[in-house]
Amino acid sequence: MERHQQFYIDGQWVDPLDGQAFGVINPATEEVVETISFGGRADVDRAVAAASTALVSWSQATVEERAGLLERAIEIYQRRTEEFAWAMTTEMGVPITYSREVQAPCGDGHLQSTVDALREHRFERPSSRGGSTLVDEAIGVCGLITPWNWPINQVVVKVAPALAAGCTMVLKPSEQSPLSAHLFAEVLDEAGCPPGVFNLVHGDGVGVGSALTVHPEVDMVSFTGSTRAGVAISKAAADSVKRVALELGGKSPNVLFADADLDAATAFSVESCFSNSGQTCDAPTRLLVERTVYAEVVDRIEALTAATTIGDPAEEGDHLGPLVSEQQFNRVQELINVGCAEETKLVHGGPGRPEGLQRGYFVRPTVFADVTNDQRIAREEVFGPVLAVLPFDTEDEAIAIANDTPYGLGAFIQ
Ligand code: NAD
Repeated sequence: MERHQQFYIDGQWVDPLDGQAFGVINPATEEVVETISFGGRADVDRAVAAASTALVSWSQATVEERAGLLERAIEIYQRRTEEFAWAMTTEMGVPITYSREVQAPCGDGHLQSTVDALREHRFERPSSRGGSTLVDEAIGVCGLITPWNWPINQVVVKVAPALAAGCTMVLKPSEQSPLSAHLFAEVLDEAGCPPGVFNLVHGDGVGVGSALTVHPEVDMVSFTGSTRAGVAISKAAADSVKRVALELGGKSPNVLFADADLDAATAFSVESCFSNSGQTCDAPTRLLVERTVYAEVVDRIEALTAATTIGDPAEEGDHLGPLVSEQQFNRVQELINVGCAEETKLVHGGPGRPEGLQRGYFVRPTVFADVTNDQRIAREEVFGPVLAVLPFDTEDEAIAIANDTPYGLGAFIQ
């Protein structure tokens, strides 16, 4: 069987026990570029059994052994960075320049900061109450479930600390972005990761994700993704009393006061809302502007948005690429239509594809002004290049609007 259709379990690439074929689509072309397998319960059982067996020795590995593995992984990752950049451009449509300069460097960056933390960490230290010693131990077998929007960032930021802590793990990356995760398994394999310490099973949330979440031998689930799935995972993990770590969605406020440097503040506001095509969890998507500069800021935002270009992610440049999938395209279109139907002012963009792009999940960068915080466009995470601009009069009012959200993630003040 082709390598991409296999799973990495117990130090080997193995054929699925329960596999179903799934086509990975390049969102810029809408064409299938690779076929992977979705695993099932039997594959999860096999991977968890390997991780449980490996825990006995890996949890006792020395700091030197763990750091050595991470350092070898850094060298290999750096040699293969260009492959990671192209994998993410292909699977999620992130423009190659952004992929090379921002997305791919997250991988070795997290590996390096984990090595640094590992070497500094005191696993044994005297208790502050005296007379006893505190010892940090591995939690156990971890189920790691990641999203597609910062694919390698999310994978490495979970896998590296788990390795450093002496945990063993089963990674289920997003089914939308399996190619970069597959490469990362190759890196760990080449780095000499002991069999069973790191395992990779592809699949969707309903199949592999939920099988990991309820598995009695999984001690912890670390999940990054939507609030909807995070709630489902918390409930499902409760019966086996797992530790659960969640990083969920956001609708982060960006409060712009009149005394800010308006050139810098508006450039930041547009760029950080739209970069990665708006598919960043802590993107500042609600721009709160002090009323005395509101009209001027809206004009500047309109000009900056009009100057934002969209195009082929395989071409170098600072343009935006498509959204990750048809489902995401439809969801963003729906919310742009909601914004248009609400009593807001459409400053730029709107529904449909950008001019000249008939294929691919491309959307128009869109700005709504005069938004009120009770409107759906101010409350729901769009996860596309869509900015909602709201005026405020006083600092207290700005704080109240900023905090009036069902989400809690980022917040920005300028
Ligand atoms: P998603 O929740 O649909 O999927 C995330 C992962 O969870 C995927 O691997 C998916 O297969 C799996 N999954 C889905 N349902 C599951 C279930 N019931 N049980 C177990 N696993 C399940 O999210 P997405 O669309 O991949 O990612 C976008 C979301 O992730 C956005 O809401 C974004 O804000 C959030 N996100 C948050 C952070 C953060 O650090 N807070 C970072 C990146 C993305």
